[in-house]
Amino acid sequence: AKARARGSFLFFHAEFSERLLLRLEREQALRAAIARDEFVLHYQPRVDAMTGELRSMEALVRWQHPQRGVVPPLEFIETAERTGMIVALGELVIMKACAQIAAWQAQDLRLVPVSINVSPRQFSEKSLGPMFAEQIALHRIDASLVEVEVTESGIMADTDEIAANLALLEQLGIRLLVDDFGTGYASLSQLQRLRLDGLKVDRSFTTALARGREGEVFYRAIVSMAHALGMSVVAEGVETAAELQVLQKLGCDEIQGYLVSRPVPADEVAALMERRYLF
Ligand code: C2E
Ligand code: CA
Ligand code: CA
Ligand code: CA
Repeated sequence: AKARARGSFLFFHAEFSERLLLRLEREQALRAAIARDEFVLHYQPRVDAMTGELRSMEALVRWQHPQRGVVPPLEFIETAERTGMIVALGELVIMKACAQIAAWQAQDLRLVPVSINVSPRQFSEKSLGPMFAEQIALHRIDASLVEVEVTESGIMADTDEIAANLALLEQLGIRLLVDDFGTGYASLSQLQRLRLDGLKVDRSFTTALARGREGEVFYRAIVSMAHALGMSVVAEGVETAAELQVLQKLGCDEIQGYLVSRPVPADEVAALMERRYLF
């Protein structure tokens, strides 16, 4: 029995090391990818729920891996967060998004804001607000063309860094949206104190609309409270015309999802801006 226990311990140990090794390999690969800048941004439209008019483009990062091809963020954002590499990666994203806005501006397109995802870890860095200020100035773009999306957990903690970033973003005139709303613990009154412009309701609530009246309860409450507090409501992950119809009925302001468009590479954005009404 003793030998068996020892054996299983060794087995466990080997498996553990293997996992650890895999993790270290992953981290190293990501670190190299950031150093080489193997990232590109794709863009997904957000539109007016009633008219389909384009309102914003959400920048979504992709890793252009030399062997593996396009790697989606779900496979590396968590590693980036855990190791702190998200700060460097996030800076790349902010730089790319601002450079892209400037490029579109030079093309004389009917511009809409670009919405940039910022992770909680980034929002706790003193450098975040100044980074936005610097990039906006460098590319000579209007701050109203930049929006920031952050999850509830990224802004709820009461720290000096978060407060300073919130204040600077507001001072610059950058709109702030709560991402994945409904999955965290923020109360609407807390969010209002933070002067947020809009709530992006998590896709799981949109999916729940298929369950009929019971699935509509959450949206009903959010829309009425958000509007009373001067915030707009965006539905994430809208995939069907039936979902859109319910969201229109409930007074949701804007929608985003595969029904309108999947995220597209930057060179397909001009056509969407020209079309302007996406349904
Ligand atoms: P998110 O910010 O909630 O972004 C929405 C995700 O849902 C995107 O996945 C988008 O492609 C996907 N999506 C949009 N519409 C639909 C739909 O109708 N159905 C379904 N099933 N999915 C839809 P993506 O691009 O894979 O990004 C995943 C997450 O990775 C993002 O979730 C965000 O949390 C994170 N992320 C992406 N880019 C960045 C970034 O530049 N910085 C940071 N910190 N996080 C990022
Ligand atoms: Ca987002
Ligand atoms: Ca989201
Ligand atoms: Ca998310």
